[in-house]
Amino acid sequence: MADVNCDAVDIAIVGGGIAGLAAAAALADSGRTVVVLEARELPQQMPGVGIAPEDYDSRVSALTPRSIGFLKQLGAWPAIEETRTCPYQHMTVWDAEGTGRIEFDAQEVSADSLGSIVENRIITAALAQQVRTLPGVRVIAPARLAEIQRLGLQESSSDETHGSEEGSEETLLELEDGRNLRCRLLIAADGALSPTRDLLGMRTREWEYGHRAIVTTLAFERGHQDTAWQRFLQSGPLALLPLQSPEDKVCSIVWSIEEHLADELLAMDDEAFAEALGQASEYALGKVTACAPRMAFPLRQRHAVDYVLPGVALVGDAAHTIHPLAGQGINLGLADVQVLAEELDTALQRGLSPGRVDVLSRYQRRRKGDNLAMMAAMDGFKRLFEQDAPPLRWLRNTGMRAVAGLPRVKRQIIRQAMGVG
Ligand SMILES: Cc1cc2nc3c(=O)[nH]c(=O)nc-3n(C[C@H](O)[C@H](O)[C@H](O)COP(=O)(O)OP(=O)(O)OC[C@H]3O[C@@H](n4cnc5c(N)ncnc54)[C@H](O)[C@@H]3O)c2cc1C
Repeated sequence: MADVNCDAVDIAIVGGGIAGLAAAAALADSGRTVVVLEARELPQQMPGVGIAPEDYDSRVSALTPRSIGFLKQLGAWPAIEETRTCPYQHMTVWDAEGTGRIEFDAQEVSADSLGSIVENRIITAALAQQVRTLPGVRVIAPARLAEIQRLGLQESSSDETHGSEEGSEETLLELEDGRNLRCRLLIAADGALSPTRDLLGMRTREWEYGHRAIVTTLAFERGHQDTAWQRFLQSGPLALLPLQSPEDKVCSIVWSIEEHLADELLAMDDEAFAEALGQASEYALGKVTACAPRMAFPLRQRHAVDYVLPGVALVGDAAHTIHPLAGQGINLGLADVQVLAEELDTALQRGLSPGRVDVLSRYQRRRKGDNLAMMAAMDGFKRLFEQDAPPLRWLRNTGMRAVAGLPRVKRQIIRQAMGVG
């Protein structure tokens, strides 16, 4: 545990996952005291990189060029790149119920890659390592937030560090181990089930996708060709995400599937699962030759009605969770952090308190529309591809073929997916 005694800080970030650590790194130079509270132990060093399927983290992220650019800006990318990352140049998407197929290539938008697949534990470790080097940030981990008290509007303050600034709401954080922490801005980066959001009574709109995501790492007969493969089955999308590996034969699998079928897949032995996966992927990479253990995640869409209150901002999964079919979740989270940091930077330069609701509302205005649009698109895709009715099957197959023949439309889709649209 870090040796800290921080009863009053400017900015407290609850959650030391990717979004929380990125927020800490982004705010380190703000001239304000920043503290990160994380319930788990944070990694002390970069993880080992064995090459058997079970040596990979089963949680991976398809990082867009925009997210990679932000991680570079935060100083975390070199450690990620040195450890293990797989840039991918192509994406192949096809419909299991017809002839619809579409290929995307980085060359179409004159880019080196469409993005990179990186294990989550590598991103977290690189950010944690970077944050530890930043004098403006203190990390308290493991430490779990237990209660929150709103202290109300504080009078204008004048102190040596910050000069005179307008008053703002203060918040008292009570940790499970009995410590207290007072802050002017509380950033909730504590994930999909955000205790902060719940303790503050911030409402969400939620609905079940009726899917569970099965994730694992598999080795295949053939190489992945630096391609992200996605097949839309009626029961849900299956993604084969390329990982850096000898002969490029290892992929991370995200198989989103109806609940009852997920139970069946989880109950199978490795041989039966490998066969089921081979069939579901139309043996795009040949047979499965080795399997890591499987994990399953229930999929539920959540969107906070408000991202901000006076002195409080939600970022990442605490603000929104979406279907992983286009691998956008943490990319949206990193974009939240980037925009919030920009708005805070402007406000702090003007001597305004970081917790002012007008400052935080600018962050909400800039992010909510984009996040909602991406959530609606993912929901639409999911619904379109689960339809069995022949006219809809015809429509989506024809649509995919039509888009494949429209270079300008394709380029627009690629740029959107890369986060640079
Ligand atoms: C199957 C699957 C595949 C996905 N694939 C992709 C992908 O390819 N690309 C992509 O961009 N996204 C993807 N996502 C989404 C992505 O994983 C999430 O958006 C991302 O992990 C969220 O990060 P976060 O930092 O917001 O939250 P989290 O990673 O959930 O971090 C929250 C942190 O808060 C801490 N915490 C919680 N409660 C407390 C407390 N009381 N006190 C202190 N700390 C606390 C937790 O310990 C945790 O470390 C996928 C999601 C799933 C389920």
